[in-house]
Amino acid sequence: MLFKPDFKAPPNRDGSALWFILDNGRLLTKTNADRIHIPDTADVEALRIAPSYVVHLGFLDGQSCYAGALDTESFSDANFKLNNVRALFGLLPDELIWIAGRANQLIYWSQTHRYCGKCGHETVDKADERAKLCPRCQHVNYPRLSPAVIVAIIKDNQILLARNRSFKIPFYSVLAGFVEPGESLEDCVNREIKEEVGITVKNIRYFGSQPWPFPDSLMIAFVADHAAGEVAIDGSEIIDAAWFSKDNLPKIPPRLSIARKLIDWFCQLDRSRPE
Ligand SMILES: [Zn+2]
Repeated sequence: MLFKPDFKAPPNRDGSALWFILDNGRLLTKTNADRIHIPDTADVEALRIAPSYVVHLGFLDGQSCYAGALDTESFSDANFKLNNVRALFGLLPDELIWIAGRANQLIYWSQTHRYCGKCGHETVDKADERAKLCPRCQHVNYPRLSPAVIVAIIKDNQILLARNRSFKIPFYSVLAGFVEPGESLEDCVNREIKEEVGITVKNIRYFGSQPWPFPDSLMIAFVADHAAGEVAIDGSEIIDAAWFSKDNLPKIPPRLSIARKLIDWFCQLDRSRPE
């Protein structure tokens, strides 16, 4: 599957176009012969639903993909229902999950940028790029991206994992936090770790990145080594943190998240080799 982003919709809406329709982070799916599908234009017309905030996302193997918001729970066909996008990990191909994520992020951005932040006038879609334009004062808003760092901290043959108060499911993960204006990513890594668990780190190195469009994060992952200090949790955001070896890991985040990729990376480290 190859997805090519494109904000411009083709002039004629194709009956086989895919529709990523969301209601507060829940995606409309169709179940057919026990398989989960993304509805197409014909499905949307048969359901007689009228999505709002419609945007063209791009083309998946040449097929148009649209996003739209919905505010109904009831569908005339019982094979259609709303599912939390994250609950669909593993049930839909990864490519479709990430397109659904883009849809979620762009719908959320459209819903929260209906009016100009500068003068209050209603905005319109800009003709030549993915942006909202204020026709009165010409102020332009691009889709919002909130960068956040995420860090695997290693000490001897152990990794620091913490339980965050906001996690709905009680799992342990690597530390993460949003970048503040004026900060480098490395500054953010140092500050977040100090604030959340009271330790300092060294040898911060880049690991990888991943969009996390729930609703608009970009995760930038690092690994670092423990430098000094004992773990002392902040007690507000972090409710538990400890060092774990790969043989006694607690419940960890699901596949597909970069948090899990960091933990998987730690698990395959060969500590018997000199570095
Ligand atoms: Zn304005």
